[in-house]
Amino acid sequence: MAAVPVAPVSNLDAPRTLEQFLAQQREIDLLRFITCGSVDDGKSTLIGRLLHDTRQVFDDQLSAVANDSRRWGTTGEVPDLALLVDGLQAEREQGITIDVAYRYFQTPRRKFIVADCPGHEQYTRNMATGASTADAAVVLVDAEKGVRVQTRRHTHIVALLGVQNIIVAVNKMDRISYDKGRFEAIAGEIVSYAHKLGVNNVEVIPVGALHGVNVVHRGAKETPWYTGRTLLEALEGIEVVASTFKELRFPIQYVNRPDANFRGYAGTIASGEISVGDSVLALPSRKTSKVAEITTADGPLQKAGPAQAVTVVLEDEIDLSRGDVLVHPEQRPTLARTFDAHILWMGEAPLLPGKRYEFKIGPRYVKGLVDSIQHRIDVNDLTTREAEALDLNGLARVRIALEEPVAIDDYKLSRATGSFIIVDLLHFGTVGAGMVITPHAHTQKASTDVVWQPTRVTAAIRANQKSQKPAVIWFTGLSGSGKSTIANALEQALVQRGHHSYLLDGDNVRHGLNSDLNFSEADRNENIRRIGEVSALFIDAGLIVLTAFISPIRSERTRIRERIGDERFIEIYLSTTLEECEKRDPKGLYVKARAGQIQQFTGIDSPYEPPIAPQVSIDTSKVTVPAAVDQILRYLENKGFLHVVDPGL
Ligand code: ADP
Repeated sequence: MAAVPVAPVSNLDAPRTLEQFLAQQREIDLLRFITCGSVDDGKSTLIGRLLHDTRQVFDDQLSAVANDSRRWGTTGEVPDLALLVDGLQAEREQGITIDVAYRYFQTPRRKFIVADCPGHEQYTRNMATGASTADAAVVLVDAEKGVRVQTRRHTHIVALLGVQNIIVAVNKMDRISYDKGRFEAIAGEIVSYAHKLGVNNVEVIPVGALHGVNVVHRGAKETPWYTGRTLLEALEGIEVVASTFKELRFPIQYVNRPDANFRGYAGTIASGEISVGDSVLALPSRKTSKVAEITTADGPLQKAGPAQAVTVVLEDEIDLSRGDVLVHPEQRPTLARTFDAHILWMGEAPLLPGKRYEFKIGPRYVKGLVDSIQHRIDVNDLTTREAEALDLNGLARVRIALEEPVAIDDYKLSRATGSFIIVDLLHFGTVGAGMVITPHAHTQKASTDVVWQPTRVTAAIRANQKSQKPAVIWFTGLSGSGKSTIANALEQALVQRGHHSYLLDGDNVRHGLNSDLNFSEADRNENIRRIGEVSALFIDAGLIVLTAFISPIRSERTRIRERIGDERFIEIYLSTTLEECEKRDPKGLYVKARAGQIQQFTGIDSPYEPPIAPQVSIDTSKVTVPAAVDQILRYLENKGFLHVVDPGL
């Protein structure tokens, strides 16, 4: 095994006495950062190198790595430091990192918690989890491959999640012979991308994680042209700015009621301070009271601040529950049912506007929907475009409409009350993460309840709500061919599968809407025209419409097809012969027509024009009712009209 190059960390700050050491420990602050980038860009190796060169690794761990390197490693003779980090067996076997791995290390200047996030596309959700609490992000770029889609996506998510410091480590510089020009080109590209996202603190460092160049030790030999900071210097130098948001937000996590005499509201203060005697307002109930006591595990307090876990007792018996937020009455968040947000979609099944989801905002769960996708964002060039759905890893700006008002803040002001996750109602998996965009917090602060008007409810929203693609299933054929029978059986099958439908047939149309029409040619045409119009309205309402009318004239049917749209007009031709229909004569109409009691009866003394290219054609003298229903259902399924409610199940 080749010797691992171990060089001491600068000892300038090393304490000389125990007191000095303890004093220094107390003052050292903490930096939480995340590493991200495309798979194989070298994240785990970089963290392994950081741990190793800052001497966080014990000798026995090192020899284990040396052994493992021979078995699992990908670095030839050099010990594979990624193995220090890629702890999970499954990761090792597949050569990828699959969960967020948190590591802790410390230098004389600072303590660090690093979230090592997976680079694979399907694990973007873990990456967002890691970024949501990070002060800084280290984005890795493979110097050979340059800036890739995943690099942009991760940079974008990091920026959306409010991480204000980005360090770009252009790794594997050895593979491009430490080429300055190539490094500068990559640096230029990523810096301008980050600037467009509004992140101004971007530092780009040429790195060789495998050989330890510019990670902890300066690569004087390899990159003499580089005068900037090493990765560790940059991490040590980042200024963690405490939140400037000082307004009290105390989301209640749990109502503590051990007996009838005590009722305390427990939670962690998200921002601001709360003191005994303060007037407080509870949202969304808008009940007010005063703080009687603040208790903690370590005894009572007069005052508590951000990140403290406390139980608050109020003077009045107001009934609050989990998810309510206590604030100061003069510094209230927006109480909104509808608001805009950026979301990152993590569901396997696409996000559909109009579909019901659960939204978890702080400890509060509220049902609601994405009312509209305002635009989706192309991570490559940051352009926006219209979208009707959002796929896995998609980023978009959306409008959300909840069933109850919630207290929210702009994410930029308050991460705790400005972020939410979206939960699927069927499998309870997290399918999205969102960040609230300015809910007019400042201008409308004085008003009590901001309920924004949702955008217009569209046909797409109504359809998505019903998890189906609306259409008209238009049965045509001679009297007695089986239109009503099959349409009824089909509707029953659709409803049993949870679909929403409406069957239009002679009874409900002729007796109501069209009771003014008789059976003259003009009136028969008008009858069909109105049925077409009603079908169009019901399609707009999101329903699957079934119609059972002879509708003998081809051009009339074509007109309705054009009115409704080709892809939503499904023509089912029952091709049963006149002979068979006359034999069945379920309503005795053929007998009457033959006897001259009914004039202009289709098939007898009035023509029937069969469809030229019906979507489904069935001869009911040869096919049973259930088989006919099956055939139509299969057609609808294949064409995506009955899309499965949620493939995530
Ligand atoms: P339409 O609505 O086309 O005038 P109906 O459904 O009212 O026709 O009548 C069709 C008649 O044919 C019913 O009495 C039904 O029981 C009978 N029938 C026999 N076999 C079939 C079949 N395979 N499909 C549909 N109807 C059938």
